[in-house]
Amino acid sequence: MSLNVANCNRCGKVYMKNNYGLCPACIRDLEAEYEKCLKFLREHRQCTIQELSEETGVSVKQIMKFIREGRISIKNNPNMAYNCESCSAPIREGNLCEPCRTRFQKETAGLAEDEQKKREREAKEKNITYNIKDRFKDWSN
Ligand SMILES: [Zn+2]
Ligand SMILES: [Zn+2]
Repeated sequence: MSLNVANCNRCGKVYMKNNYGLCPACIRDLEAEYEKCLKFLREHRQCTIQELSEETGVSVKQIMKFIREGRISIKNNPNMAYNCESCSAPIREGNLCEPCRTRFQKETAGLAEDEQKKREREAKEKNITYNIKDRFKDWSN
């Protein structure tokens, strides 16, 4: 008989393995937390993530997880925001604020540009050798 058990990612208790990585009690708890957050957000459109956490007893970290997973939508709650992963500025979607996203994009683009320049230089060098050979060929004719 194989021991199909694991430690719950949330409470650490041993449980029968499932796709959630959580024991049944924690799955139930999380569902309850999720429902509480949803309800509070519906009834308190102007609340902030701190207020939501204080009122529901759900940790800010867990609320952020719900939002990132797309389970909780904050488009109707203008004061709801969480921290940019890079600079901690308040954001309302994704993992990064606008300036950080632009910066990261530039950095990635910069790397791509360097690569492109390198290729162009190599191509040019090859071309030069080519031209010399071509000229040589012309002369020899
Ligand atoms: Zn658990
Ligand atoms: Zn940022």
